[in-house]
Amino acid sequence: MHTTAPADILVVDDSSPNRDLLSELMREQGHAVRVAGTGEEALELARQRAPDLVLLDVVMPGIDGYQTCRQLHAEATTRSVPVLFLSGSELGSARVKGFEAGGVDFVNKPFDFHELTARVATHLALRRLQRQAEARTAELEQANQRLRELEALRQRLSAAIVHDLKSPLTPVLQNAEWLMNRPGLDGEVQEAVSEVYVAANSMHRLVLSLLDVARSSDTRLVPQRQPVAVRDWLEKATTFARLKARATGHRLQLKSQEADAFSFDPELMGRCVENLLDNALKYAPHGSPVLVSAHCRDEGGLEVRIRDRGPGIPDAMKSRIFEPWTRLDSADDPQARSSHGLGLAFCKQAVEAHAGQLAVEDAPGGGSLFVIRLPA
Ligand code: ADP
Repeated sequence: MHTTAPADILVVDDSSPNRDLLSELMREQGHAVRVAGTGEEALELARQRAPDLVLLDVVMPGIDGYQTCRQLHAEATTRSVPVLFLSGSELGSARVKGFEAGGVDFVNKPFDFHELTARVATHLALRRLQRQAEARTAELEQANQRLRELEALRQRLSAAIVHDLKSPLTPVLQNAEWLMNRPGLDGEVQEAVSEVYVAANSMHRLVLSLLDVARSSDTRLVPQRQPVAVRDWLEKATTFARLKARATGHRLQLKSQEADAFSFDPELMGRCVENLLDNALKYAPHGSPVLVSAHCRDEGGLEVRIRDRGPGIPDAMKSRIFEPWTRLDSADDPQARSSHGLGLAFCKQAVEAHAGQLAVEDAPGGGSLFVIRLPA
């Protein structure tokens, strides 16, 4: 009866009647059989083509079964071939030696046919499973390697794109600003230039966020702290939002304590406020109020709050929303196309680089409230 698919079996025994008997038995099971009368001959045949299983006599002239087994397992091509020892010795020590030499099983001579065929079938099945696992591991390793290569390529590509985008944006921004501030500009032209200015700024901010979020641990954001007049800084940080709000109709309200000076990086924190305001203008209904305020905290330090009347952030997402590439809306949502989930990740990094905290809370009366807290 066939218990396993046909396999290639190497029978090794110095006794010719034994070899014939074993070969016949294996062939009856449908297996292909090769025979060897010595250990040396067995090694030669195994090197030509690794068998699926070796039935190996222990006592033979020349190198014995144990040595043959050790040698088989020392060579790369035959390392994992299972060896089933056939021995006339009933001693436990002989079995131990067999297992120590790398054998998978031990059958005493004279053997019971049923027992031998059952053991052969078991080890062939195990061998097949082992091969499948090895093939699967090799496939996975290949796929992994391919993924690593693709990821490295993607990183190189995005770094190149981001880097090449950054430089030309600087003159676009500078020239748009220069044009916008020219006196006597026709209203329509002024509006068009302001749109260019806002769009270029938004692209520039995205590029900078991409570069900052992709920073490795050894090039962490380091704030360039300096004394900042908070009110003037907030005025400047909201320039783009004010220009954008002209188109969206949002009512932008600014509240800041008079003439407080505080030490932080005005450029980094300015981009942070721009990102938070950009979101407020993106997600809160047109025409609704958006409030930005900055004040010194009673316990020392600065607090900046950005509040809108939009849909707010669901509780379950409040901690996750600051992870890179996280967004609430699905990619199919037309509004979501202008969202990448990088802005808040950058904001969190920038605030934490100042040893501060960025949190999102429910705004009283609905909407989101983003709070930046910087220590004294
Ligand atoms: P992006 O820079 O692409 O806008 P963000 O990291 O700034 O991404 O925001 C991530 C997601 O958080 C957005 O896709 C949006 O779903 C949600 N979100 C951010 N701010 C607000 C807000 N003020 N109101 C509602 N949802 C917001």
